[in-house]
Amino acid sequence: MDYFLYKDGELFAEDVSVREITRAVGTPCYIYSARTLARHYRLFDEALEGTEHLVCYAVKACSNLAVLKLLGDLGAGMDVVSGGEYMRAKAAGVPGDRIVFSGIGKTREEMELVLKGGIRQFNLESEPEMRLLNQVALELGVVAPVTVRVNPDVDAKTHAKIATGKSENKFGIPISRAREVYAEIAKLPGLKVVGIDVHIGSQLTDLAPYKAAYQKVAELTEELRAQGHEITRLDLGGGLGIPYEQNNDRPPLPVEYGAMVKETLGHLDCEIEIEPGRLIAGNAGILVSETIYVKEGEDRKFLILDAAMNDLVRPAMYEAHHDIVPVMEPAPGVEPDRYDIVGPVCESGDTFAKGRDLATMEPGDLVAFRSAGAYGAVMASEYNSRPLIPEVLVQGDQFAVIRARPTYEEMLNRDSIPEWL
Ligand SMILES: *Cc1c(COP(=O)(O)O)cnc(C)c1O
Repeated sequence: MDYFLYKDGELFAEDVSVREITRAVGTPCYIYSARTLARHYRLFDEALEGTEHLVCYAVKACSNLAVLKLLGDLGAGMDVVSGGEYMRAKAAGVPGDRIVFSGIGKTREEMELVLKGGIRQFNLESEPEMRLLNQVALELGVVAPVTVRVNPDVDAKTHAKIATGKSENKFGIPISRAREVYAEIAKLPGLKVVGIDVHIGSQLTDLAPYKAAYQKVAELTEELRAQGHEITRLDLGGGLGIPYEQNNDRPPLPVEYGAMVKETLGHLDCEIEIEPGRLIAGNAGILVSETIYVKEGEDRKFLILDAAMNDLVRPAMYEAHHDIVPVMEPAPGVEPDRYDIVGPVCESGDTFAKGRDLATMEPGDLVAFRSAGAYGAVMASEYNSRPLIPEVLVQGDQFAVIRARPTYEEMLNRDSIPEWL
């Protein structure tokens, strides 16, 4: 559930009218609800109550500093996948010992940055990475805490572009090779094993693939311990899905996920880390856009919005569904119109939805894309030279711009023309 609800016939973000925000910041814009972010973080925290654990928010889902500060202040750790995300987590006040570093392409520079600034653990994804990290740690005179991300060869049954736990995916080390890799790490003086890591994909709507993967991790834990490795932490990744179609989807709840984790892994007496991103940020954000035109096609109506695929790429990239609702609540009993909902970018892929029923819209009318808080603003670009759109955070009856819309001048000033031209 979230805090974007109609009050007196119009959509509110917590206690602030969405129209009021758009009057102040313009459209399109992202609006996040602090109360929803906090609620989702706590759901995970409570789901793992009774087990030692750390909820490491996956920064890549929505990486605005204000969002990270809010979650960090509640006690969240952070899962970062780049030096830039590490810098964001630190800038938001999250200490290094609550930050884990994931990703298959960590560079030497990123390793140095993170080892100097403090890190809870590296989740290693390959043997070459293992050797380079050992070398960098020795050069700096430190020991890097590591887990190995194992690839359990489990089908997460999600969109192919966000499934990561099959042997054909580029992620992790095949679980069948894990024993050899741990044995090699034990010989490297710059590395210290602290646990095992696994992440099988995103937008999972079934607990069964998780359970299959975690059972393999449990077996591996026992085997590695028998071989003398100290396995004290299990990082279980993120990926729990959210209901993008409010009236149809019902993915497992964090509490159900937590119960399954305890059942599958509780006997091992390990500290549990999880890395949810989408479930914390997804339904905590909306994208608000204004209707520019309603265009009559041969056999359909096009609702042309001022938001486009560069602002929210998920429909174009993953065929993703977002519920799209009018900001002014339609009167009960009024027949909806049917639209193809599109943006202004010069690609047919810039289509948010086809044949969608919506209240009759006029130029100037506002719509909200629900569930746009995760993988929304972070994946935005300035394609078609459309400046990045602002992000706004609401808490109770207050709101603040947490990233301003650049002016055309600011956008142009990032380019430079060589003197010799
Ligand atoms: C993307 C990612 C996550 C977060 O996934 P969500 O589906 O947003 O929960 C967690 N861990 C790793 C390693 C990731 O790549």
